[in-house]
Amino acid sequence: MSVNIPRGTQDILPGTVEKWQHLERIATDICRNYQYKEIRTPIFEHTELFQRGVGDTTDIVQKEMYTFTDRGGRSLTLRPEGTAAVVRSFVENKMFGDPNQPVKLYYKGPMFRYERPQSGRYRQFVQFGVEAIGSEDPAIDAEVIALVMDIYRTAGLRKIQLVVNSLGDTESRVAHREALIQHFQPRIGEFCEDCQSRLEKNPMRILDCKKDRDHELMKSAPSILDYLNEYSRTYFEKVQQYLSALDIEFVVDPTLVRGLDYYNHTAFEIMSQAEGFGAITTLCGGGRYNGLVSQMGGPDVPGIGFAFSMERFLAAMEAESIEWEETNRLDCYIASLGDEARDYTVKLVHDLRKAGMKAERDYQNRKMKAQFKAADRLQAKFVAILGEDELKENKITLKDMETGEQQEVMLEHFVDTLQKKMEEK
Ligand code: AMP
Repeated sequence: MSVNIPRGTQDILPGTVEKWQHLERIATDICRNYQYKEIRTPIFEHTELFQRGVGDTTDIVQKEMYTFTDRGGRSLTLRPEGTAAVVRSFVENKMFGDPNQPVKLYYKGPMFRYERPQSGRYRQFVQFGVEAIGSEDPAIDAEVIALVMDIYRTAGLRKIQLVVNSLGDTESRVAHREALIQHFQPRIGEFCEDCQSRLEKNPMRILDCKKDRDHELMKSAPSILDYLNEYSRTYFEKVQQYLSALDIEFVVDPTLVRGLDYYNHTAFEIMSQAEGFGAITTLCGGGRYNGLVSQMGGPDVPGIGFAFSMERFLAAMEAESIEWEETNRLDCYIASLGDEARDYTVKLVHDLRKAGMKAERDYQNRKMKAQFKAADRLQAKFVAILGEDELKENKITLKDMETGEQQEVMLEHFVDTLQKKMEEK
C-alpha cells in the first residue's frame, strides 16, 4: 500500500516546527502588546458564509473552495480565509455591544483553497490574521499596518516593502467604476473572458488581472486616486501621515485593488524583495471592509484587518538567510553504566524535568561512548555520568560540555547544583 500526502499540503517536521513556533510566538506576543485577543472559529462553516462574506464573483468562491455535503444534507466548506468567520462570530456573539470598541482580534489556523500548487502556494496553509472591528479612525488603519510590520521586523525581515492604496468610499467608487467602464468597454474584446465578465460586475478587478497585466489600457486606466471625494482623500492622507509618524516606509500604488463591494478606503500589501523568494512575492494582504458586518446581518460597523501565511513568512526568512535562534538545546543528558545506575536515572531525569530543565537519558541500552554521542547530537550543555561505583558512593559526575570542566556532586545536591550552573550560563 502506498499512501502519500495530498497535493498542495505538507508535513511540518521536527526541526522546522521550531521555526514555526518561533514566528508564532513573535506574532502572538506582538498582538498582545497591541491589545489584540485571540479568537478561534471552526475549520468548516456553512458554504453560504463564504459566498456572502468573500463574494460570489471571486476566484476563491467560484473555483477554489473545498465544499462538501454532510450527512444531514448541509453544504459546508473548509474555510478558505479567516475574515468572514470572524465577522460572523462578531455578529453572532453581539460583540458590537462590548463596551471596549473597537473589538481587536487575531486568529491563526489552517485555510484551504483548491489552487494550483507551486512555490509559496499550498492547498492547505496557515494564516495569521488580525481584525479590528468597530472604528473608522485612520489611526486604527495605521495601527493594524504597524502591527504586521512590527511582526516582520521583529522576526528580522529587512527586504520587505509596504504598498498602500485607497479604494475610497462608496461615492468615490461609483465614480471610478463609471470611468473604468468607459475606459475598457470599447476594447473589452481584447481582454480575457474573466475580464469581460468583470466589466459590468466589478470593473475594478480588471486591474487585478494577471493575464492582461501588460495590455496598454491597463497602464492608462483611470486611477482611483483621481476619483476620491473630500472625505476619502482626507482619510487616506491621515493614514499616510500616521504611517510616516511611525517611521513606516511605504509606497502608494493606485493599481492595488480589493475587488469586493464592501472593501473601501485603505488597502495594503507587503511584498518580499528578497532575491530568490520566488514568483509570488506577496507576504501579506489587508484592508478596510466597512460594509461587511452589515452584509452579515450585523449593524453598520466598520472594520479593517490583514492576513499573512506562515508558509510565506518562513520562506521570506529563509530567502533573507536569517539565523534561527536555537531554543531547544538540551540542558543535561544523563549517561549511565550498569543496571542499577540505569534504573536510578529513571527518577533522576524526571527530577530534572520537574525542576524545569530539558533533560534526556538513554533508552537503547547503549555503551557510554554512544550515549556521549547522543548527548552531542542533542547539543547538551551538561552530561551527568552515573556509574555503579558512583552510585555506591551516592555521587554523580557532572561535565560541562562547553568548558570540559568536570566535578563530582553528591546525588542529593545534583538537581540544585545543576540548576545553579544553568543560571550562571
Ligand atoms: P488573501 O486572503 O488571498 O488576501 O491572502 C492573504 C495572504 O495569505 C497572502 O498574502 C499570502 O501570504 C497568504 N496566502 C494566500 N493564499 C495562499 C496559499 N495558497 N498558500 C500559501 N499562502 C497563501
